[in-house]
Amino acid sequence: MLQHKANICSDEPTLTCRLCKSVSHVPGVTALDVWKVDFPSNFVANECKAAVAWEFNQPLVIEEVEVAPPQEKEIRIKIVATGVCQSDLYFLSKCSNQTAFPVVFGHEAAGVVESIGPGVTEFQPGDTVIPLFMPQCRECRLCKSPKTNLCVNGCPLRSFERSRISCKGRKLLQFLGTSSFSEFTVVKEMSAAKIDPAAPLDRVCLIGCAICTGYGAAVNTAKVEAGSSCAVFGLGAVGLAAVMGCKAAGASRIIAVDINPDKFEKAKVLGATDVVNPNDHSRPIQQLLQEMTGGGVDFSFECIGNVEVMRSALESCAPGWGVSVIAGWTDMENFSAPPIHLMTGRKWTGTLFGGEKWISASEPAMVRAYLDRKLMVDEFITHNLRLEQINEAVELMKNGRCIRAVLSVSPQ
Ligand code: NAD
Ligand code: ZN
Ligand code: ZN
Repeated sequence: MLQHKANICSDEPTLTCRLCKSVSHVPGVTALDVWKVDFPSNFVANECKAAVAWEFNQPLVIEEVEVAPPQEKEIRIKIVATGVCQSDLYFLSKCSNQTAFPVVFGHEAAGVVESIGPGVTEFQPGDTVIPLFMPQCRECRLCKSPKTNLCVNGCPLRSFERSRISCKGRKLLQFLGTSSFSEFTVVKEMSAAKIDPAAPLDRVCLIGCAICTGYGAAVNTAKVEAGSSCAVFGLGAVGLAAVMGCKAAGASRIIAVDINPDKFEKAKVLGATDVVNPNDHSRPIQQLLQEMTGGGVDFSFECIGNVEVMRSALESCAPGWGVSVIAGWTDMENFSAPPIHLMTGRKWTGTLFGGEKWISASEPAMVRAYLDRKLMVDEFITHNLRLEQINEAVELMKNGRCIRAVLSVSPQ
């Protein structure tokens, strides 16, 4: 890590500026500006490693990047571990906007607060945190409603203005306000949740996206009922977490659907009662599920990002009350279905980050549940790799050969 010269110093002779000892004096910045944040590295840009996506659909490149000091109400986090989520891959190699590069991806992480910017009240250096790709400002209309975890001050998908990461003199886009494929990152104070320091960061990082999303899709968004029947389409980490959420909610039948039979064993571990490969059947999957359940499941979940499957998931639901939740992401196509499917009482909805309101709780409930052995997390980790091996992790995900690869980024 290189220490760059700070360009802020005290112009009050009565105070000794810690920074001015080594750099030329810049008038106009008061001592208060320097001293109000009691952490010297706030004013030091970190040079560290990050995996940079320079171009659409190209391998990521490990580069030395510069991570600027946190500004007003921002914190700089040393990322200890990060998962690689299908959403990272989607924006790297599939999405409709192929020009928003260079970017630092990664949003499913855990780390340690390294420094805090002015005005930060809730974090101290040394706190262990999960960065949140869906922040909660607590003040907007959406934050104040218990009905949603959305916030009007949410992060843009890829932000240039808010980015604190640069490389070779170029600013890099920050993905979802997090950018965890970097040894250090800067996020807004409202984009992080403090967690129990006892939580193993190389595991609970997965609660920072996939596990929260899938589990919350079942528990918060669908509100799965005890004794109900459920179908989960797509058994990546998001879908498997939805299976786990359905089981936790007391569903009596959980049908796990995937075209990759390698996923079935894990689905059973997490609570699936039946597994189905649509390719093994000549009739449409929705027809098969209707037959298996005597008229359709009570709840279904699309965890793939495929609009055809979204419709199949809706059509697998029971008329009258069936609820189908979209968790998979795509911006390439629109979904469609005959209106009669909704007129006959099915409900079609969706979830971001599992509808979980992180900041309203005194501590993140899912991290606590994991520590209390009430939530499975370790079962999702099929590979442990280093940040430098990120392209290997991307290939594993693309080829369906892993549930989650967790990358070790910085030592804790
Ligand atoms: P993943 O690639 O690990 O899992 C997807 C699974 O779907 C794979 O097992 C694959 O074999 C299966 N699949 C593909 N096509 C299928 C088909 N036609 N029928 C049945 N199964 C099929 O992905 P993931 O990391 O678990 O993410 C899943 C989706 O959720 C992605 O679209 C991702 O972008 C999205 N996501 C959304 C949120 C959110 O907040 N809503 C959060 C995280 C991820
Ligand atoms: Zn994700
Ligand atoms: Zn808000």
